[in-house]
Amino acid sequence: MKKHPDFGSLYVADHPLVLHKLSMMRDEGCQKAQFGAFLKEIALLMGYDVLHNLPMTKRTITTPLTKMDAPVLAGEEPVIVPILRAGMGMAEGLQELMPAARVGHIGLYRDEKTHEPVEYLVRLPDPKGKMFILVDPMLATGHSARYAMDVMVKRGVDPDKMRFMALVAAPEGVKVVQASYPKVPIFVAALDEKLNDKAYIVPGLGDAGDRLFGTTG
Ligand code: URA
Repeated sequence: MKKHPDFGSLYVADHPLVLHKLSMMRDEGCQKAQFGAFLKEIALLMGYDVLHNLPMTKRTITTPLTKMDAPVLAGEEPVIVPILRAGMGMAEGLQELMPAARVGHIGLYRDEKTHEPVEYLVRLPDPKGKMFILVDPMLATGHSARYAMDVMVKRGVDPDKMRFMALVAAPEGVKVVQASYPKVPIFVAALDEKLNDKAYIVPGLGDAGDRLFGTTG
């Protein structure tokens, strides 16, 4: 992934497989099963980069031939936190990469009058000794991501132990998250052009939740 020159903590995918799969997803002809499979595959591929600098230590192990000091992950157990509901599609890919990782959930809906996020479900593990990967495919206005980060901070998560992974971002959303959480790294498969007047990302891929679950709003 490449650090974006204009958005300090933003990293944008440049791997051909990620870019190709995202283009397939964007196509309006991409059906539910394929959409979900691509989302999971992209999350898994992006996961390598999102986790590239996890702290390591050495442990002495015995192979069939000899003893060796082998590199293993050091502490800081990763926790995957999807923002419901579309985040679940990305969480699946990360779970394949880290089957033992705990999974928290943050459920938000948008208030019809204020358009602000309202939480309806929060389940997180004790944050001690853990690092958190918040996932949501569409970083549009940034309000849900920022709200979810606020929720995590209120429950004791240190922003230094947070990473955020999305599929597609709008510049507006990146700015909103970075204004509150400038040090939280944001990893995306693509940074799109803009939001339209209904807060959809353009060119985007439409409503990620509806396409993932086969619903219509
Ligand atoms: N949420 C979506 O699912 N799609 C967008 O384009 C914006 C927000």
